[in-house]
Amino acid sequence: MKLFDSHCHLDDKSYNKDIEDVLNRAENSGVTAVMIVGTTVKRSEKAIRIAEAGDGRYASVGIHPHDASECTEQALEQLKRLAHSPKVKAWGETGLDFNRMFSPQKDQEHWFIRQIETAGDLGLPIIFHERDSSGRFAALLITHHKDRGNGVVHCFSGNKSELYQYLDLGYSIGITGILTIKKRGADLRELAPLIPEDRILIETDAPYLTPSPEKNRVRRNEPAFVKSTLLKLAEVRGVYPEDLSSAIWKNTCRLYNISTGFSGLRTED
Ligand SMILES: [Zn+2]
Ligand SMILES: [Zn+2]
Repeated sequence: MKLFDSHCHLDDKSYNKDIEDVLNRAENSGVTAVMIVGTTVKRSEKAIRIAEAGDGRYASVGIHPHDASECTEQALEQLKRLAHSPKVKAWGETGLDFNRMFSPQKDQEHWFIRQIETAGDLGLPIIFHERDSSGRFAALLITHHKDRGNGVVHCFSGNKSELYQYLDLGYSIGITGILTIKKRGADLRELAPLIPEDRILIETDAPYLTPSPEKNRVRRNEPAFVKSTLLKLAEVRGVYPEDLSSAIWKNTCRLYNISTGFSGLRTED
């Protein structure tokens, strides 16, 4: 089985000491590709550094909605320059998060729009983060995303009508380990079978959201554990894991414009 962790934060400092072990465990679980997602200029830089150190590792550049109040036009220029690295395959994560409101709504919306435009200038797919935006997220996509459908709503946590709205707009849907969690994942397990097979991506969002059963053993999530999400997803959809994993592999490579034939995660000597 070939798995692609379409969204993780291996630049997080919790991996500083053992990132090579983490990547080896990923490879041993069949996770032969990872997308390391940027959240600030500094962290986008670090994501690219990690990606450039080996095969099967890719990066995105962007400013997380939590950090929107710190964003500037100059920061976007810096990210644009960073995006010249051949390892950069997406823009993000960007979007709206009105759950914790770490940045004011007007800053989040302004910099979300500017990032949609910038990703468009670069021709990059977008990794979206949405939480509790009560329709504003979809409304801004409809008015501002010219490259409609070229993106993934990561860590999908919406309701049925939001799911259908994103699908109707052409976007892919990222499923995290929340799917495997008994209580918290109940709604997602109802909705996951409704997503067309060619629109699903799987992700860890590591170091957060450790799936079951690993969360009984360790606190920190890592790309190897995306396999638990794949297995649960196959179970709730009533399909063979091998078939589902090959479809998801293709979906992820198609979205990120990566050739499907490459071999795996290795550190170059
Ligand atoms: Zn996110
Ligand atoms: Zn994330």
